[in-house]
Amino acid sequence: MPNCPECAAKEKRKMQERYEEETPEEDRGRDDLYKLFDQVEIPMKLDTATKHFICKRCGLYATREQVSDIRYKLNQREKTREDRQDDYLNWWQKSKKEKQEE
Ligand SMILES: [Zn+2]
Repeated sequence: MPNCPECAAKEKRKMQERYEEETPEEDRGRDDLYKLFDQVEIPMKLDTATKHFICKRCGLYATREQVSDIRYKLNQREKTREDRQDDYLNWWQKSKKEKQEE
C-alpha cells in the first residue's frame, strides 16, 4: 500500500526538525535524514469497490494516480525550498570570497 503523501510529508518535516534540534550542525548528514525518512510508514487502505486509497489519519481519498501526483507536487515543493537554500549558500560563499579578494 502506498504511504499517504500528505501525512508522510508532515511526518518527515517533524523528523527533520527533531533531527536538527538533536544533532549539531557539523554532525548532520543528508543520508542520516533519508534513513529516518525511510522509517515513515503511513500506509493507506484500498477501497476495492471504488479503487481509491483512503488515509485513516487525514482522510485523504484518492486514486493511485492522484496519490503519486500529490507526492510529486510535495516533493517538488521540498526541492524548490532546498534549491533556494543552495542558491543562498552559493551567493553567500561567493560574496564572502569576493570580499576576501578585495
Ligand atoms: Zn494522510
